[in-house]
Amino acid sequence: MIKFENVSKQYERNGITTQALNNINLTIAKGDIYGIIGYSGAGKSTLVRLINFLERPTEGSVRIHNQLLNQLSSQELRQVRRKIGMIFQHFNLLESKTVFENVAIPLVLIKKDKQTIKQKVYELLEFVGLSDKANSYPKELSGGQKQRIGIARALANNPDILLCDEATSALDPQTTQSILDLIKQINEKYKITVVLITHEMSVIERICHKVAVMEKGNIIEHGNVLDVFGHP
Ligand code: ADP
Ligand code: ADP
Repeated sequence: MIKFENVSKQYERNGITTQALNNINLTIAKGDIYGIIGYSGAGKSTLVRLINFLERPTEGSVRIHNQLLNQLSSQELRQVRRKIGMIFQHFNLLESKTVFENVAIPLVLIKKDKQTIKQKVYELLEFVGLSDKANSYPKELSGGQKQRIGIARALANNPDILLCDEATSALDPQTTQSILDLIKQINEKYKITVVLITHEMSVIERICHKVAVMEKGNIIEHGNVLDVFGHP
């Protein structure tokens, strides 16, 4: 489903080269909840930006559903990307738009008709438990509610991959638990593959099947969560 082969990524900035990823090999199977854990600067975000092709690898290849991303036309790339939903640490909602409008963004972008949009948005709001907030603005919502809206927006195009970038890092423990439960439910109900970046071990232990531990651009360990973090 997602396959990295000998992937390296270097950033060049002001004459300084940073090796963000160093010869990464990683396979994420369909239906996995795959955690990527590591300290700040380990390369986690870069890895995720390569999956949705916001960055290109300096070396190596990234495949999604067996398609080599750097060989796709921009039209084909848009199709692949559309099937990747993403949620963020700070939710990335548009403050000047209502909850309804925020969730509708991906559908408006692909020019769905008004009636289809309305039906889908209400279905999604119902799924995340916030039908009554359709006309509210993000600033009127709690952090957990904002993330539920982020999730509804990420699901609008019926993705088969959900990328979660520190999606619970700005939330308290109880809210974190409820968002992780929702992510787990999405994985089980819709068979969506989840890639979850975090610096918190507890998040990995709660919902991930597999984990890769990153350090300085390398994957230093990977496998089933129980095998990696192990028993006493
Ligand atoms: P993480 O998500 O684990 O914190 P990142 O992938 O953001 O790690 O960063 C990995 C390394 O690449 C860091 O040293 C970071 O400073 C560097 N880096 C990330 N993005 C850029 C960029 N756009 N330009 C230059 N360096 C970057
Ligand atoms: P822009 O083109 O200005 O980057 P977009 O129209 O692509 O913005 O996205 C609008 C909003 O949706 C932004 O807040 C952005 O963070 C968010 N967004 C973009 N891509 C995704 C995605 N795959 N899943 C969820 N939200 C996204």
